Amino acid sequence: MLQSPFSGVPQELGAAYAALSANEGGLLDRVAQERMLAPFAAALRELEKLQDGETARQEIVRRFQLETDGGPAAATERAGTLTLCEPAVPEPRLGMSAARPRFSASQLNAYVECPRKWFYRYMCGAVEDKGSSASFYGTAFHAALEALHGEFPRPGDADPAELSLKLEGLVNSAFDRHRNNFETPVEYELQRRRAQRTAKKYVEWLLAEAKRASFTVVGCELPAELEMEGYEFIGYIDRLDRDDKTGAVAVIDYKTGTIATNAAEYREKIRRFKDFQLPFYYWARTAEGDRVWKLALLPLKDALLDVQPVVLEVVPVPSEIGRSQSATGVIPLSELERARERMIEICAELTSGKPTAFAVTADPSACTYCAYSIACADRPYPPDQRFGR
Ligand code: SF4
Repeated sequence: MLQSPFSGVPQELGAAYAALSANEGGLLDRVAQERMLAPFAAALRELEKLQDGETARQEIVRRFQLETDGGPAAATERAGTLTLCEPAVPEPRLGMSAARPRFSASQLNAYVECPRKWFYRYMCGAVEDKGSSASFYGTAFHAALEALHGEFPRPGDADPAELSLKLEGLVNSAFDRHRNNFETPVEYELQRRRAQRTAKKYVEWLLAEAKRASFTVVGCELPAELEMEGYEFIGYIDRLDRDDKTGAVAVIDYKTGTIATNAAEYREKIRRFKDFQLPFYYWARTAEGDRVWKLALLPLKDALLDVQPVVLEVVPVPSEIGRSQSATGVIPLSELERARERMIEICAELTSGKPTAFAVTADPSACTYCAYSIACADRPYPPDQRFGR
């Protein structure tokens, strides 16, 4: 039936079905139950009702015109075209090893979020990331802030109106450079306006911070390179501030996506080894001789909210995680050390050559924006979609 030009099944699909049948049997049952697509499923259901095998055979020959299409001899000859070889024996799985010479905190974050995603992205380079309006918003905003602080390293000394006007112009020009990356002119305009509103709130926060304790921005997009137990790491610090009085530095990470809403939540992520970004920057700057006293995530996503960083002050002694919803908290040095140890352990795992497969995440929310979801048959489904599989 599959070979018949009247089956409606393309030749290559028919061959695939036949191969599947050779391995698993029950092909026609599957087609009749519409678990596999074939235009003759309805005909099969009718043929099933014919109790007598010979009658069924004749009906098949008639419906699919097997005799009229060159006669039995040709049918026999055609039968040879679908003679199947033995199914291939699966090759033994080989261990895989990270090929890249250098790691980054975001690479390890991807691994702990979903090892399969890490495999697709960092081992296979499976999909070219074309970016999204959210990512271009982030890129343009980062570029504008880098230019601003290059010109005004001491925001407290600047004229507030000038600072605000300068950032407005820098945001416009940064977005203009990325204009063609946005899908539509409307999307571009919406994102640009969102950035402008957020930029105003950023300047308000910046000036208030400088008034509270004056500081100097010592670098933006600062390369952070570090070797830990033979594993090389690289990253870029969005902003590094030095306190004018104490000389201690604060690491600032701009966030244009969703982040923890309070300090305790962010510390818990670090404690559970879900986020290595700021611990890595801590160790990179410490290796450079800085005294890092503060790690901060600066949310730049929501133009309607005031800019309110999530801050963790590094303390030398252990401390309990409070239940407070405060944006400011502490992180003991011991937890940063544990994060560093876990980073090294993960690098050892990834370069051991032992993993033969990379598990998918158990958290369906990780799949929402995953570029690999279309290829990822094992991905977990959100509870409300499980019965729709
Ligand atoms: S779709 Fe989900 S499970 Fe699959 S790689 Fe992406 S994040 Fe992992």
